[in-house]
Amino acid sequence: MSPITTSRPGEVLIITSDNPPVNALGAAVRQGLQAGIREAAGDPSIKAVVIACAGRTFFAGADITEFGKPMQEPGLPTLVDEIEALDKPVVAAIHGTALGGGCEVALACHYRIAVPSAKLGLPEVKLGILPGAGGTQRLPRVAGVALALEMAAKGDPISAAKAQEAGLVDRLAGENSLLEEAMAFAREVAAQHPLPRASTRTVEADPAVFEQFRKTNAKRFRGFEAPETIISVIEQTVSKPYAEGVQVERANFMKLIMGTQSAAQRHIFFAERKASKIDGIPEDIKLRDIRHVGVIGAGTMGGGISMNFLSAAIPVTIVEMAQDALDRGTGVMRKNYEASAAKGRMTAQQVENAMGLLKPTLNFDDLAECDLIIEAVYESMDVKKEVFGRLDKIAKPGAILASNTSYLNIDEIAAATSRPQDVLGLHFFSPANVMKLLEIVRGAKTADDVLATAMAVSKKIRKVAVVAGVCHGFIGNRMLMPRQVEAQKLLLEGATPTQIDKVHVDFGMPIGPFQMADLAGTDIGWHRDPERIENIRDALCVEGRWGQKKSAGFYDYDEKRTPSPSPRVTEIIEDFRNRTGTPQHEVTEQEIVERTLYTMVNEGAKILAEGMAQRASDIDVVWIYGYGWPVYRGGPMFWADTEGLTKIVAGLEKHGFEVAPLLREKAEKGEKFNK
Ligand code: NAD
Repeated sequence: MSPITTSRPGEVLIITSDNPPVNALGAAVRQGLQAGIREAAGDPSIKAVVIACAGRTFFAGADITEFGKPMQEPGLPTLVDEIEALDKPVVAAIHGTALGGGCEVALACHYRIAVPSAKLGLPEVKLGILPGAGGTQRLPRVAGVALALEMAAKGDPISAAKAQEAGLVDRLAGENSLLEEAMAFAREVAAQHPLPRASTRTVEADPAVFEQFRKTNAKRFRGFEAPETIISVIEQTVSKPYAEGVQVERANFMKLIMGTQSAAQRHIFFAERKASKIDGIPEDIKLRDIRHVGVIGAGTMGGGISMNFLSAAIPVTIVEMAQDALDRGTGVMRKNYEASAAKGRMTAQQVENAMGLLKPTLNFDDLAECDLIIEAVYESMDVKKEVFGRLDKIAKPGAILASNTSYLNIDEIAAATSRPQDVLGLHFFSPANVMKLLEIVRGAKTADDVLATAMAVSKKIRKVAVVAGVCHGFIGNRMLMPRQVEAQKLLLEGATPTQIDKVHVDFGMPIGPFQMADLAGTDIGWHRDPERIENIRDALCVEGRWGQKKSAGFYDYDEKRTPSPSPRVTEIIEDFRNRTGTPQHEVTEQEIVERTLYTMVNEGAKILAEGMAQRASDIDVVWIYGYGWPVYRGGPMFWADTEGLTKIVAGLEKHGFEVAPLLREKAEKGEKFNK
C-alpha cells in the first residue's frame, strides 16, 4: 500500500503522507507524491493542493538507508521541480520538523504554512553532503543569502517564527488546526496567478557576506569539506539562473557523497544508533525504575554527573565527606548553571528548578531512597571498596550501584558488595555535564536488566552510551595509553611537544596529547615520590609543572591559558636524553602518525578481539564523543579502514610493534573493521 493517499474535500486536493516514524522521503513516498501532483494536474475540478503529513512530523528528510543504492525514480530533484511546476497553487502544511529533503519539498511548494512548534532545517551538512534537491538554490532566493548560509552550512534547524520572519513560512497556524487552515489558505490563493515559484525569484547577494560567514565559522568548519562546498555553491550560483545553479549543486552533491568524509559522517550517524543495542539482551527486557539518583563525591566529576540528572528533572542526593567540599561542589554546579543562563541557554527559573532538585548531604544514609547511586570518589581501589561495602548496607534492594572509575576493576569493586549483579561502571567524561559519551562497563556478574536500565537512563540524560568490558581503562582510556607512551618516547628521540601536538591538531583533534596532559593535570596518577624520577612526566611533576592549573606543564601558559614552548621543558627533555643515552633522529610527521595513531588502532583491534567492545563502530563512537576525534574521519577504526589495514600493519612493523592478531588477519584477508 502506498504511504501516500489523496482526498478531495471540494476543490482542494489533499496529498497526505503516512510513512512512520518520520515520513522519510523514500521511493514509495516520492512515487506517491508524484502521482498526487499528476492527479491534480489532470483534473480540472481541482484548483489547489495541500501537501501534509500524518503522524508526528512533516517529511524529516531523505531515507538515508537508500544512500549508495541504485536510485528509484523519481529522484527528489525531479519531484520537487514537478511540484513547483504545477500550474495550481501547492501549500505545504508543516508540523514537527521539515528537514533536509522535507524542507526542500516545502521550498518547492508555492506557499508554506506551519504550526508554531514546527522546525525547518537543512541538516545534510552533518552527514557530509549538501541539500541536493534544489535547497542551495531555492532557500537563498526565498529567505536570503545570510539565513541560507546559516541553515545549509551549519545544519541547525530554525523555529517556525524565525522562518516566518525570513519569508520561508508564509503563515502560522494553530497547533491543532493546521489542516483546516492550510485548506483555507489553499482556497484563498486558488485563483492567484502567477504562482510564487522560488526558483524564478532573484536575490541580492553582497559578496562580503560569504567571506564574513567563512571567517566567523572558521573554527567550527575546520577540516570539513561539506560546509565550504555549500558556501561556494551558493556563492557561485546565487546570481545565476536556477537551471544553471542546480547543475552546480548536483555536481557538488555527487562529489561529496562519493567522498570519504561523507562516508565517515554517515558511518557515525548509524554507529551512534547501533551503540545502544546490547548484544544478547532482548529489547523488551523489563527495566528498573529510576526516579531518584544518588551521587557520592562532589568533586570535578560528581558535580558534573549530578547536573545531567538535575537537567533531566531527576532529583539527586549528593553526599560528601566534609561540609566545605560539599559547599564547594554545589557552588560550582550553581555557577555552571548560571553561566548557561547568562548565555541564554536556560532561564533563571530553570536554574532554580534544577538546583531545587538537588539534596546536598553529609549523611550517607540519605542514599537509602535512591534507585541509582553513582560513586565518584578518589581513584583508589581501597577507598572505592570501602564506599561500596557501606553502600551495600544502605542501598535499597534492587538499587543500581555504579562506579565512575576511570581504570579500576569493576568486578573487584562489585565483590565488595553482596549484590554484584546490581553493580556496573558508569564512566562519564570530563566535563561530565558537557561531554556526550558514557561508557557503561559491564561486570562479569552485572545483571541484564541493570545494563539495559543504564542504557535507557543514558538516553534520558542525552548521552551517547557504549558498552565496554572490564579491562584497564575500558575502551577510551585504554587506547589513550599507547598514544601517551609513544608520544613520550618520541620526545626523547628528538621530537618536541609542539611538533607532536601539531600533527594531532592538523589531523583534526581539538588538542594534541601534550596539551591534553596539561589540561587534565600532569600530576594525575603521579606517584608523588620526589626521589623517583623515571620519565619526563615525573621530572615535570617534581618541579610543580602540573599543567594548566599551575600555568606550567609541557608548555608555559599565560593568563589567558595560551600555551607557548617552554625552554625549561626543552632542558628537562635534553637532560633525560643524556641520562638515558637515547639516540636522536629526525622525527617526521609520518612517524608521529604511525607511532601515536596506528598504535591506537592496534589497541582497538585487541579490545575488539577480547570482546571488550561489542563492535568496531562502538570504538569509533567512544573516540568521537569522548575525545573529539574528528567526525569527518569516522573514528579510529573507520579511519584505519580508509587508511588501509595493510598500510597500518606495515607502519606498525616498521617500528617493531607487535601487531594485534585481529588486525593482521583482517589486513591479510582484505577485510575491514567496519563492514
Ligand atoms: P575529585 O578529587 O575532584 O573528587 C572526589 C571527591 O570525592 C572529593 O570531593 C572528595 O571529598 C570526595 N570523596 C572522597 N571520598 C569520599 C567518601 N568516602 N564519601 C564521600 N565523598 C568522598 O575527583 P574526580 O576528578 O571527580 O574523580 C572522581 C572519580 O571519577 C575517580 O574515580 C576518577 O578516576 C573518575 N574520573 C575522573 C575524570 C576526570 O577527568 N577528572 C574523568 C572520568 C572519571
